[in-house]
Amino acid sequence: MVVALPNPTTQSHTSAYHTAIEQYNRATQNLSIDDNILDYMRYPRREFTVNFPVRRDDGQTEMFTGYRVHHSTVLGPSKGGIRYSTGVTLDEVRALAMWMTWKCALVNIPYGGAKGGVVVDPKTLSQRELENLTRRYASELIPLISPHSDIPAPDMGTNSQVMAWIMDTYSMTVGYSVPAIVTGKPIIIGGSEGRTEATGRGVIITMMEALKQMGQSSRSGTTVAIQGFGNVGSNAASFAYEMGFTIVAVSDVMGGIYNPRGLDIPDLLEHVQATGTVMDFRGSENINNEELLRMKCDVLIPAAMENQITEDNADHVQAQLIVEGANGPTTPEADDILNDRGIFVVPDILANSGGVIVSYFEWVQDLQAFSWDKDEVFRQLQRIIVRAYDETQSNAEKFNVDMRMGAQMTAIQRVADAMKVRGFYP
Ligand code: GLU
Repeated sequence: MVVALPNPTTQSHTSAYHTAIEQYNRATQNLSIDDNILDYMRYPRREFTVNFPVRRDDGQTEMFTGYRVHHSTVLGPSKGGIRYSTGVTLDEVRALAMWMTWKCALVNIPYGGAKGGVVVDPKTLSQRELENLTRRYASELIPLISPHSDIPAPDMGTNSQVMAWIMDTYSMTVGYSVPAIVTGKPIIIGGSEGRTEATGRGVIITMMEALKQMGQSSRSGTTVAIQGFGNVGSNAASFAYEMGFTIVAVSDVMGGIYNPRGLDIPDLLEHVQATGTVMDFRGSENINNEELLRMKCDVLIPAAMENQITEDNADHVQAQLIVEGANGPTTPEADDILNDRGIFVVPDILANSGGVIVSYFEWVQDLQAFSWDKDEVFRQLQRIIVRAYDETQSNAEKFNVDMRMGAQMTAIQRVADAMKVRGFYP
């Protein structure tokens, strides 16, 4: 027995790692998987911590800490985003890496799971400092990443420009251009059409599948509240608006807005562009993030971060359907409350998988040096995510569990089956 392994039992109930391990324990209860494989999948395969200096614009250097965790490489190279946030901890990255493993397995793409993060508020850095930080972090990761071993992508606090710097740093180091080293890059250097919209679009596709299952057919009669207006939340809002749904509330880190008659999303995007926040949008009432979660609406889309729906507020959620755009927004304790109240949840590893699905398309296009058009990308995204939804639903029915357990059980079984045929080395 290795003593220094991460110990989830010492985690507080609001830690993402507690949530990830508790979900794993629940999901594996009714699966007949060999105990050795069960134990193996519980732990991250490797964990990397780096402390590195970044030169600030005033000439001084400052030390930063970053991580990259590979949870699993059983189904293929590890895949997952890089997050820049002051909330980043090794435990958070462990949880997010584990969720990537289940997410990729669930949608049946040939990847394991990874995640990375740097403890930094990117808003406090100038563009040059952000580039310095990214290039130095990328160079620290070089022993771990490659197009055939571990492929990073954007996450909270990072974007296509950050991916371009990582691609360039890696390429300059090896001496030739390697587009397939990251996904979510600008199209001009090998990014894919549709990657920016992919996660938000996938959220709304799974929302529509759930509404169909619940027998709700009127789009304009369906009210939607979205927590978070970053890449996931804003693209989910745009696609839902385009599809004819009524978006009554959205929020960002500063706060939220509410309009029972529905928000004009194209106008709101312009407002955000001009002011940097959704707040004070004309014709709407300002609210806070907690009020958004308790809002009267049909669908609630948490698209911000972990641990938002907890035992403290799950009793007050009024939506009948929750579609998880964020990773880990609902704690296991909140899941129990939502289940008792009959609230239907489309879990994160299914609802937000559109991002990594189109990342996979981007990687395939890069490796083949052949690009697809947007229609093709969206058609294949729809096919894969709906197939995963159907598999989740039928396993949820078969095992008489909720959608989260249906999704986790499907994914974990797939990794276990692959591990069984691969066998333990040596
Ligand atoms: N960061 C995204 C996620 O949590 C995308 C990961 C990827 O595309 O590799 O799913």
